Amino acid sequence: MTYPTITLKRGKEDSLRRFHPWVFSGAVAQMPEGIEEGDVVEVRASNGELLGIGHYQIGSIVVRMLEFGRSRAIDHEFFTERLAAAFELRKALNLIRDDNNAYRLVHGEGDFLPGLVVDIYGPTAVVQAHSPGMHFCRDIIAQALTEIPGLPVANVYYKSETTLPYKAHLDPQNDYIIGSYAGSVALENGLSFNIDWLRGQKTGFFVDQRDNRSLLQHYSAGRRVLNMFCYTGGFSVYALRGGAELVHSVDSSGKAVELTRANVEMNFPEARNHEAYAVDAFKYLADIKKGQYDLIVLDPPAFAKHRSALRNALIGYRRLNARAIEQIAPGGILFTFSCSQAVSREQFRLAVFTAAASTGRKVRILHQLTQPADHPINIYHPEGEYLKGLILQVE
Ligand code: SAH
Repeated sequence: MTYPTITLKRGKEDSLRRFHPWVFSGAVAQMPEGIEEGDVVEVRASNGELLGIGHYQIGSIVVRMLEFGRSRAIDHEFFTERLAAAFELRKALNLIRDDNNAYRLVHGEGDFLPGLVVDIYGPTAVVQAHSPGMHFCRDIIAQALTEIPGLPVANVYYKSETTLPYKAHLDPQNDYIIGSYAGSVALENGLSFNIDWLRGQKTGFFVDQRDNRSLLQHYSAGRRVLNMFCYTGGFSVYALRGGAELVHSVDSSGKAVELTRANVEMNFPEARNHEAYAVDAFKYLADIKKGQYDLIVLDPPAFAKHRSALRNALIGYRRLNARAIEQIAPGGILFTFSCSQAVSREQFRLAVFTAAASTGRKVRILHQLTQPADHPINIYHPEGEYLKGLILQVE
């Protein structure tokens, strides 16, 4: 296959030789005439060496690499191969079981498919394109998803209205590409969740907290649990299974609170020790009494969606954590997270340290958490690591 060629400035080829999957606009010496967003391009070093091919896009990341060192067709066969490899990994992780059918099948660069996210909920795959190139491939991706041996996908829902670059004028759509609605209850570690990919955030569920929810279950016995930013109530349901004395779920969205109630009801119809409240987290924390809870989960939305918001994000994490550490019962356990990609592990830890120091309480780190293995991090692309968490014990 031959494609239009982007030539890099001298010395800018090193990161691509190391398989970093992005080409930044500052590295480009020469652009071909007339290329359109989403086109496949060849990337060459200043000496003409072919470094690989990728999807072209306008912006600071101009190419997302699909193949290194050679050219090839980006077609049905390409996607079938990459998707099958992604499925093999999830099988190896033992995520495909009778009691578990919710997991991430494709995590962008971590699965060598930059710009693509696919979450599986039983017979339905929810696909998100983050790049114009993947948007244009959506039909072949959907087709390939239904053909991977052993992967029981019959319906493919495409959801890219919020993930495609705003300026790309691509007519993004939220719709079924293949199949139709076929139920929305998925299983995670034997617990049932109603997943609303039509109206919910992201693909409808945060599969990335699965391992951390399991850990929470083990800390829950006999504890009074507060699950802040509960969304679908994932942590709440695990806490109830773990034998929590009571669980309170909080989210500012009324819909999230309804979803949490429904998910608790579906798993524990007899439970009388769960309450969900639609209120702002900062307001709720301001009103709680000291010692009212002995296990608190803080899993807020990304406070910094971009680097420019970093300073305010760190202030937000500090305030939130300070209040929780101040109010938690003696011996309490705090699960605290940041899913902002722009906030580094060190910056988050420093924000939590500063919060702890402001309370004058003794605090220890019991676990350092990250995203689960179905959200793999390409070692040459550290930007793919986004979820950070700490489990703290407060004396
Ligand atoms: N912990 C959840 C995911 C949280 S997503 C899980 O395991 O699935 C973040 C949630 O925070 C969203 O549901 C959003 O509605 C809620 N949220 C955002 N701002 C908030 C605020 N100021 N107070 C309370 N909830 C908020």
